[in-house]
Amino acid sequence: MRKYIVLLGPPGAGKGTQAKVISEKMNLPHISSGDIFRENIKNQTELGKLARGYMDKGELVPDDVTIAMIKDRLTRPDCSAGALLDGFPRTPAQAEALSDMLKSLDGRVIAVPYISVPEADLIERLAGRWTCRASGHVFHQKFNPPQKAGQCDFDGSELYQRDDDKAETVTRRIRVYMEQTTPLVEFYQAAGLLREVDGRNPIEAVTASMLAILAENKTI
Ligand code: ADP
Ligand code: AMP
Repeated sequence: MRKYIVLLGPPGAGKGTQAKVISEKMNLPHISSGDIFRENIKNQTELGKLARGYMDKGELVPDDVTIAMIKDRLTRPDCSAGALLDGFPRTPAQAEALSDMLKSLDGRVIAVPYISVPEADLIERLAGRWTCRASGHVFHQKFNPPQKAGQCDFDGSELYQRDDDKAETVTRRIRVYMEQTTPLVEFYQAAGLLREVDGRNPIEAVTASMLAILAENKTI
């Protein structure tokens, strides 16, 4: 049976940051829908052109497009044992679609860590986020600075500030999260899979809580 972990939490909660560590520990590929969209924008694909219009405004890319993209990604060979999902699902329709996909893949969501962080902290986190061009490693100018300014510690690539991390877009993204994604907290709670983690703690402490949860769940 394939194993899937779904990371939930608002934009800036620390999903991508934690995913890098958990993915290694669990030996599951880190699948970030946002990273796939950004890769498509970089490569100027049709999907990238379509997604960009929504992303620049802080809106969600339509469900049909996003679901088709993830379906394609989850059927690739590197996902043969499952995956760590970051940023997908983000709407009830996407969560239903994931359940259907997993039926045909003989897979199961085994845990849903939910990283909770108050809205006031999210703005500061996103305003100070620096992302690596090559593979989406994230840093923060104050909370997790790179060793050398402007350069990724892991692969030496350039760090940049995402267009959608501008204050106006961040406010919209948080609203969109509240309206469209928070119903998933209840969805996964009802399924007995949700485990809340206090995301206000320092990065290493959040990692420790997440690993403890996964170990307790016998998922590691
Ligand atoms: P998400 O993937 O949920 O949008 P990220 O992992 O990209 O969030 O984190 C957003 C920003 O907050 C990044 O700049 C990251 O370095 C920083 N960050 C992540 N976790 C913490 C934390 N526990 N405390 C302080 N800053 C954090
Ligand atoms: P993220 O990298 O997760 O912060 O996502 C950046 C942007 O990509 C979001 O604001 C959306 O526009 C788009 N996006 C990422 N994942 C999804 C998804 N599951 N559904 C719809 N849009 C998404």
